[in-house]
Formats: sequence, C-alpha cells, structure tokens
Amino acid sequence: MDFSQLSFWHSQIAELTPRAIPSDAGPFDVGIAGAGFSGLWTGIYLLRANPNLKVAIFEKEIAGFGASGRNGGWCSALFPWAPDQLAEKYGKEAAKQLRTAMVDTVQEVGRITKELGIDCDFQLSGTQYLIRSEAQRIKAKHELAAAEELGVDQLRKVSPELAPRATKVLGSVFDPACASIQPAKLVRGLAESFEKLGGVIFEKTEVLGLSEGRIKTSRGDFMAEYVVDALEGYRSTLRGKRRDSIPIYSLMVVTEVLPEELLNEMGLEPGITFADYRNLVIYGQRTKDNRIAFGGRGAPYHFGSSIKPGYDRNDRIHDQIEGVLLDLFPQLSTVKFEQRWGGALGVSRDWMASVRLDPKSKLGQAGGYVGDGVGTSNLAGRTMADLILGLSTPLTKLCWVQHQSPKWEFEPLRFIAARGALLGADIADQIEGVTGKRSLISKIIARLTGKG
Ligand SMILES: Cc1cc2nc3c(=O)[nH]c(=O)nc-3n(C[C@H](O)[C@H](O)[C@H](O)COP(=O)(O)OP(=O)(O)OC[C@H]3O[C@@H](n4cnc5c(N)ncnc54)[C@H](O)[C@@H]3O)c2cc1C
Repeated sequence: MDFSQLSFWHSQIAELTPRAIPSDAGPFDVGIAGAGFSGLWTGIYLLRANPNLKVAIFEKEIAGFGASGRNGGWCSALFPWAPDQLAEKYGKEAAKQLRTAMVDTVQEVGRITKELGIDCDFQLSGTQYLIRSEAQRIKAKHELAAAEELGVDQLRKVSPELAPRATKVLGSVFDPACASIQPAKLVRGLAESFEKLGGVIFEKTEVLGLSEGRIKTSRGDFMAEYVVDALEGYRSTLRGKRRDSIPIYSLMVVTEVLPEELLNEMGLEPGITFADYRNLVIYGQRTKDNRIAFGGRGAPYHFGSSIKPGYDRNDRIHDQIEGVLLDLFPQLSTVKFEQRWGGALGVSRDWMASVRLDPKSKLGQAGGYVGDGVGTSNLAGRTMADLILGLSTPLTKLCWVQHQSPKWEFEPLRFIAARGALLGADIADQIEGVTGKRSLISKIIARLTGKG
C-alpha cells in the first residue's frame, strides 16, 4: 500500500515506510491497540510519568494510518455532547469542569508538542462559526446563552462586517479555543517521541482480540498487565465489540495553494478554522501553506459497520463537499481542488465519548469522539495514563471517565439508525434553508446525537 496516498496530509510526510518489528516481545506493563492519537498520547504520558514502564503499541498498518493522520486538523475544545447537555445529565459543575479541561487541552497540545519538538503547524487562531440563516442564528444564540450560563467560555459574537466574507453571512461566533494543525505531522511526530521515550511500536501487526493480560495479534500473543483499546473508529472490527461503536465516514478535499491576498480578502486569517451552524457538520481550515482543507459528513454508513479503503473516496459526496465550499466562497470558483480523501471515526450509541479502565481486569478503552477527537484524544491519553498509574487527579474525576455507552442495535436496525441520523441532518438543512426556521427534525436529531 502506498501510504502517501491516504490523504493530502500523508502526502506531505517524507517517510512512511513501516517500522522494523521490535525484538522485545514483552511481557509489557501496558499494551495498546492502535497507533493513533489516543494510543500514542497514552503511551507518551505514561512514559513521561514513569520512564521505567514497558509500553508497546500494536498497529495494523502504520502509526497515523487512521483518522489521526487524515482529519480536518481542528484541535478544538469541542466535545461530542454540548455543555448544556452535559449539564443536564451530570450537573452544571461537571459540565463546566469538562469544558475547562477541553479548553486547557488545546493549550496543552501546543505546549507539549513544542516540548517534544514536534512541528505540526500548530496555529492557535480560533474558529469562526458562520451564521447563515435564521435557523442558524437561533442555534448560535442558544450556544452563546449556554456558554454564558456555564460561565467558562470566551465565545464571542462577531458582526457581519468582521466575519469571513462568505455568502449569506448574518454574523459569526468566534471561539478562540481551537488551533489548526497538520494532523499527519502531529501523529507521526508523536510516534517518534513515543519511541524516543522508550516505547515500542509493532506496525503491520493486526490485533485480533483483547483480553485480561493478553493481546492476540497476527504475530502471536503478547502479554501485558494493562491492555488498552485505542482503536476508536475501528473498534467494531474486533470480535465481541461489533456493537460497541459504529464507524461513520467523514470526507475531505484540499485546494491548490491560494494567493495570500485572496485568503485575506475572504477574511480567512492565517491558521483560522471555520464552519457554519448547519446540522450536517462541515469544517475548514486555512493551512500553513495557504490552502483550504475542507470536509464534511454525509458519506453513508455501511451495513455491518463495514470499513474498506474504497469508502475513503466517494465521488458524489466529494462533489457535494466541493460544492458546499464554493457555495460559501464563490471567490474560489476557478480554484483547483488537488486531493480527496476520507476516513472512519467512532460513534457510540449515545454519541458520548469516554475513557474507561476496569481496575479488576486492567482493560481500558478510549474513544467515541464523534469527529471531535484531535483535542479529546489528548485529554483521553492523559487521563488513561493517570488511571493506569492509579492516580486520583482532577482529570480522573471528569464526568466522561468510566462512562459506559449502551450497545448499538443488531443489524439491520443499526443501519437504519445510522443512515437515518445522517439523512435527517441533511433534510433538516434543506428545510431550514427554505423556511429559515429551526426544523423539528433538527431538534430531534440534536437530542439523539447530543448536540442539544
Ligand atoms: C476525515 C476526518 C476529519 C476529521 N476532522 C477532525 C477535526 O478536524 N477535529 C477533530 O477533533 N477530530 C476530527 N476527526 C476525528 C479525529 O480524527 C479522531 O477522533 C481521532 O483521530 C481519533 O484518534 P484515535 O487514535 O482514537 O483513532 P485512530 O486515529 O483511528 O487510530 C486507530 C488506529 O488503530 C489502527 N487499527 C485498526 N484496526 C486495528 C487492529 N485490528 N489492530 C491494530 N491496529 C488497528 C488503525 O490503523 C489506526 O491507526 C476527523 C476524522 C476524520 C476521519
């Protein structure tokens, strides 16, 4: 497989050859399945806390093969459940603590990557959320009110004149708690840092099963006292975990390098990330080298939670994503799009992320980030490290720790639920585009998906 073809981000990485298989066959103190952000952050924080630990990561392809190398590069404070929904379930104080931890996490990623010497184009430029219809204005108002109620946020409303110059803009909300990054540079840099700290990575080593003290792989069984599932979007491919999470695809495109004047005229500051308040998520960033990397949901869920390389590219959805960007910024109508790609992200049945460790079996897992995993996986890694080290810290007391999501339905109900949510979001956007009012479908989906 030519890994440089996985995404635009991978194509910018000089070396993607799989690592030689380590000679150390264990036993390990900690064995982790999956060399994405979750697995690597866990390993790095563990080894920084205790350099004597023996930590191994087992990866089916290469470090950064999954969503961590392919994403939109929003290192944000976003969490799958909105603060008001967290407050409803766990109380206002718990919601406030989690939001504060997420905002701190954005800073932490900037801090630690600098310390580790990882150049991942980290630019703390914030996000502009465009308001482009009355329905979107209602959602923005709701979000601002919820943030104010919680009293932790620096979200601020921006007038139409100062918002990016997209079409139909009524204003925007600026969230400073987001950095743009080049995700493949980050994840590949993390893998190197993990090794420098003494960790070992078994690439081209498929995990076939995880159980107490044992990681069953395509290269035989490995023993580890603690076993961590950091497979996220791929979790459902493991036997016994099929209904724990579903893979949802998010797809992206990238433009050619654009003139700096054009981007400035469009009101897109260096490193800015942007979206609007539609139901079917979109996300864009001005890259360090002055392109626009832009993506969105809407790709179909595949029956039986199937994941295949062929699903990373879908002409119809990629055409739609390019169309959405051109609809936002017609100034780009003559611009060349250079690459298309996509990947799977993990969604649990209640759309809630979690980090868990069973103290008895010493089995742990982190994930279910629903596409908000760049920042959240760092918080997960730090928290998992604290849990494994047996520490009681502010992180281990956050409300998402030890959360247990219910299982997804058996097929075909899972297929109906997943496709229904995506289709519903699309229909809601179309209705709201015509009526200008928040649709009933969007309210129902918001309740079902945690975006209250
Ligand atoms: C197109 C796209 C855009 C996104 N944009 C954003 C964004 O802008 N901001 C944001 O916050 N989040 C975004 N996300 C989500 C974010 O990328 C993920 O939540 C995050 O990267 C998850 O990291 P992870 O380490 O948990 O999982 P992954 O990075 O998916 O890592 C799991 C690893 O496990 C490996 N693996 C799979 N099966 C096996 C097996 N059987 N044995 C061993 N290894 C295995 C995979 O190869 C992979 O490397 C996006 C996701 C996608 C797909």
